[in-house]
Amino acid sequence: MSLISTDAIVLHLQDYLESSRIVRLATREHGVQSVLARGARRPRSRFGSSLDLFASGVAQFTLKPGRELSNLSGFDLTRSRMGLAADLDRFASASALAELALRFAHADPHDDALDILGRSLDEIASAPAGMSTDYGLAAAWRYVAALGFAPTLDRCCSCGSELPANRAAPFSHHGGGVVCEKCRPSVPIGRELPADARAAVSAWLTGEDGPALDELARRAHLRLLREFLHHHMGDGRALRALDGWEARLRRPA
Ligand SMILES: [Zn+2]
Repeated sequence: MSLISTDAIVLHLQDYLESSRIVRLATREHGVQSVLARGARRPRSRFGSSLDLFASGVAQFTLKPGRELSNLSGFDLTRSRMGLAADLDRFASASALAELALRFAHADPHDDALDILGRSLDEIASAPAGMSTDYGLAAAWRYVAALGFAPTLDRCCSCGSELPANRAAPFSHHGGGVVCEKCRPSVPIGRELPADARAAVSAWLTGEDGPALDELARRAHLRLLREFLHHHMGDGRALRALDGWEARLRRPA
């Protein structure tokens, strides 16, 4: 059992017993960790108001073997992101990103993935009005790439032959990318990916700015992201925050 001090981001908070909280943290060196913040809900808790959803800080906890819950002994706040909770669209995007981290970052170290997560939350927090979904989509794909699951979009995911960028291409969730005409009959195909959607996801995966999206494109992109995460990375469990994000877009403004 050793005391750890590591950069971390709060992904999820859950009340526990009378006065405590179970906190799920994305950490720099130890993947996603569940820790117990004893007394965190008491008025004069040592954590103060630092343990907020999406906050960054330096977490100190003891790493216990197996599935035993570690005790959080301190959380020195470096960045609070309270603004994310004040706007439902921003909150929906940020929650989907946190869910992605919770579900797919597991307990492996993932170096720059934590920085990308923090930067992405900052970007969603400061997205221009009406743009938080676009920023959220960019963030989600960039994070997918940081976790090492980026789909292949410039060449066939089956045979590796190059595919012209200016054309639509069939996309295979199962194969993890676009598919050439020759391989098409032998690879399960999800849907046809238009050239502009291919270009947008390619840009987001490499951290570049994507194009401005209209409502239809936003919905199509969210559908693609959901299908990709379910088929390629998921374990069959629902991705509630992602579903909620998508459902918001279907509602009339
Ligand atoms: Zn091929």
